[in-house]
Amino acid sequence: MKKNVFLKVITLLTLGVSLSMCKNPSTPVKEETVVTELPPVNTPEEGLAALKAGNERYVSEHPLFPHSNHKRVEETAPHQNPFAAVVGCSDSRVPVELIFDQGVGDIFVIRTAGNNVNCDLVMGSVDYAIEHLGVKVLLVLGHGSCGGVTGAISEEEEGGNVGKLLGTIRQDVTEYVGKPDSLDVAIQKHAHIQVERILSYPHVAEKVKKGKLIVKQAYYDVKTGKVTIN
Ligand SMILES: [Zn+2]
Repeated sequence: MKKNVFLKVITLLTLGVSLSMCKNPSTPVKEETVVTELPPVNTPEEGLAALKAGNERYVSEHPLFPHSNHKRVEETAPHQNPFAAVVGCSDSRVPVELIFDQGVGDIFVIRTAGNNVNCDLVMGSVDYAIEHLGVKVLLVLGHGSCGGVTGAISEEEEGGNVGKLLGTIRQDVTEYVGKPDSLDVAIQKHAHIQVERILSYPHVAEKVKKGKLIVKQAYYDVKTGKVTIN
């Protein structure tokens, strides 16, 4: 046993010497700029830009993980002031704060399987974000390979609570039932209908008209991590 430990130590020492020989002392150490603060979001346009920039950082593997320290937790403890709300799917591949590279207190997230808003609980949450929190941007975020929409356009009927959920989604994508090849189109159409549904409320449309709110549909590509906002 002792011999094995000794050999490991020698191996590690040798490896250390080899690695240190590889170093070039004349090579300057590249200093990376650490951004701890992002610009404040004061307008809906700035909010949209912040989400787009965050997704670009996520896709390019240069996330800043902003607003993620304990200082931020303490700052936001008295009240929340998110600049955006996102109605997304519960799908584990679509973690909203991560894909937009945002942190604590930045996004009011409403997630259900299939991101349908035709339900008091969801629409009430949307209204809360708009009316009480004053979010400047609201996205309905569909995504590729969505199981909720896949189930909704399937000809197989499912019972129980899942069946009820799929039935609600199906109402918005009836023309695609039995057409699995149209899944991506159905996902985008479904998100579009949710946006129209949200905008059909006069108090929401009024905020949009006054330039206080932007409501958009978006699509998350599960293969690339990229969000396309339409
Ligand atoms: Zn989904």
